[in-house]
Amino acid sequence: MLIDTHSHINHEKLADSLPEILQKLETDRVGAVICPSYDLKSSKSSLIVAKHPRVACALGIHPENCAEYNAEVEKFLLSNLGDKNVVAVGEIGLDYHYGVDKKELQRKVLVRQIELAHKFDLPIIFHVRDAWDDFFKVIEQNKTLIKRGVVHCFEGDSEIAEKLLDLGLYISVTGLVTFKHREALREAVKIIPLDKIMCETDAPYLTPEPFRSKVNKPEYTALVADKIAEIKGENSASIDEITTKNAFVFFDKLGGKLGKI
Ligand SMILES: [Zn+2]
Ligand SMILES: [Zn+2]
Repeated sequence: MLIDTHSHINHEKLADSLPEILQKLETDRVGAVICPSYDLKSSKSSLIVAKHPRVACALGIHPENCAEYNAEVEKFLLSNLGDKNVVAVGEIGLDYHYGVDKKELQRKVLVRQIELAHKFDLPIIFHVRDAWDDFFKVIEQNKTLIKRGVVHCFEGDSEIAEKLLDLGLYISVTGLVTFKHREALREAVKIIPLDKIMCETDAPYLTPEPFRSKVNKPEYTALVADKIAEIKGENSASIDEITTKNAFVFFDKLGGKLGKI
């Protein structure tokens, strides 16, 4: 079984196909999903979708929504991070891609949520885009608070991957790895040790080849795993097995939930 470790199945683009997506988890090669959140609204709907036996969720405020972080949001997180279906804090991080005016606020909101993850003994799903140097600094300064962290939708090169691995982080790979011009990413995947790699779709975005024109969905995690297998010279079955094992180790509350199915 494969696990889609980052899939926004509660996104409005997938609303019509959600019943089919959930049903398919029972028979497909991809048998479980972790649904991360990016604002208060999605955190609330993640909790609902995570009631499904094959879905777990993460709660958190995405860096692009950092201005939304206030006392009400924090109260919500404090009330719900202990829920049995919440397996991580996320997605949180730094994203300087669209403008640089909120850098300071992004860092503040990130650190605050790292503290919450520590309080609840949860691992963290990080979103990092065009902000590597500041991200490295935040991780170094808060290392003792981070139980485990994964950089989701990794799009860096080997040098960045090495720094993340040195910091003890996991790296999660999306369909970007199947895109023609992403040679540097494929090179980076070569150096990620098998016990530090996970697979995801980041659905509804980033649909892997050859389905790029379609809306992404959890079953396409298989295309990501197949590509990782090809790059690493392994067979797909062993990549399925090792990445799923990694997900159970990383999201340690997941066993308590999926173990029952
Ligand atoms: Zn993200
Ligand atoms: Zn995401």
